[in-house]
Amino acid sequence: YAKKAGRDNYKLFEPYMAEQESEQFDSEQTLSQAIAEKSAFSMLYQPRVDANKEIVGFEALVRFTNPSGLFVPPSQFIPLAEESNLIVPLEELIFELVFAQIAQWKKTFAVLPRVSINLSGKHLLSDGLLPFLKTAMQRYGIRGEWFEIEVTEGVFLADIETCIDVMQKLHSLNIAISIDDFGTGYSSLNYLKTLPVDILKIDRSFVNECAVKEEDAKICSTIITLAESLGLSTVAEGVETAEQFEFLLSNGCSEFQGYHFFRPLSADKVTQHLGQLNELSVS
Ligand code: C2E
Ligand code: MG
Ligand code: MG
Ligand code: MG
Repeated sequence: YAKKAGRDNYKLFEPYMAEQESEQFDSEQTLSQAIAEKSAFSMLYQPRVDANKEIVGFEALVRFTNPSGLFVPPSQFIPLAEESNLIVPLEELIFELVFAQIAQWKKTFAVLPRVSINLSGKHLLSDGLLPFLKTAMQRYGIRGEWFEIEVTEGVFLADIETCIDVMQKLHSLNIAISIDDFGTGYSSLNYLKTLPVDILKIDRSFVNECAVKEEDAKICSTIITLAESLGLSTVAEGVETAEQFEFLLSNGCSEFQGYHFFRPLSADKVTQHLGQLNELSVS
């Protein structure tokens, strides 16, 4: 009579719930089937630029088209995948898609800026990650220097010892690590000196109003100073205006990402940019 809902919550089953439950079941079903079939997922790549607005990296962002042809944003299916056990197979598929793409670009272009890949905390802490990565890197001929892994702060609270261990192992494969959405989680400064991280990505919520709000300006400049003093570099996320860029630049931010420079691009568009980038580097 009582139905299991969520983690350890039991609630009484009421008729009106049937619809919700079956919808939930449906989308989980759909997602798991889509992962098995692989074809509904694709990647976009958002450029990251330096102080001269030159492309120095790309962030791989997943897109999902559901069976009815509807576009489902990652904010809807990534949390669902994290709640169920689908996040690991989903992210393994994402690694494969990105590695295949990197391998293809590498065949054509001598200069290929690093591609960063988002990783869920649950996956970072799972036993399978390192063996999977080693095998996949070998299979696609990918070197650790060619990509980077983004994790959010939440995972440090879950199991700091395992985080340190896994991140050190990623480093020994020459994979750089960035903390995504920095400033929105609960990580203590103590974590920052203990963890083998390379880059802090300043969350969009601070960047948003850094050119108009004193508090946000101070948060951004403090994160940049903190990063510098720890020998880390900074990426500002969600830069949308010239004013935000100027402010962050004058405060020493190293790299920038956002609609002011580029939207997430298709692989074909990236290929065009890589063509230009490689011509420039030859001449
Ligand atoms: P994120 O990792 O912080 O990615 C940046 C998000 O900000 C992307 O949204 C990007 O399209 C958006 N963005 C970039 N520039 C701007 C800007 O100037 N203004 C605004 N308003 N937004 C901007 P997207 O692609 O919808 O992804 C949302 C989140 O979903 C990501 O946040 C990430 O947490 C997650 N996600 C996306 N792809 C993956 C993936 O392959 N694996 C995992 N685990 N998570 C992913
Ligand atoms: Mg990210
Ligand atoms: Mg982010
Ligand atoms: Mg963000």
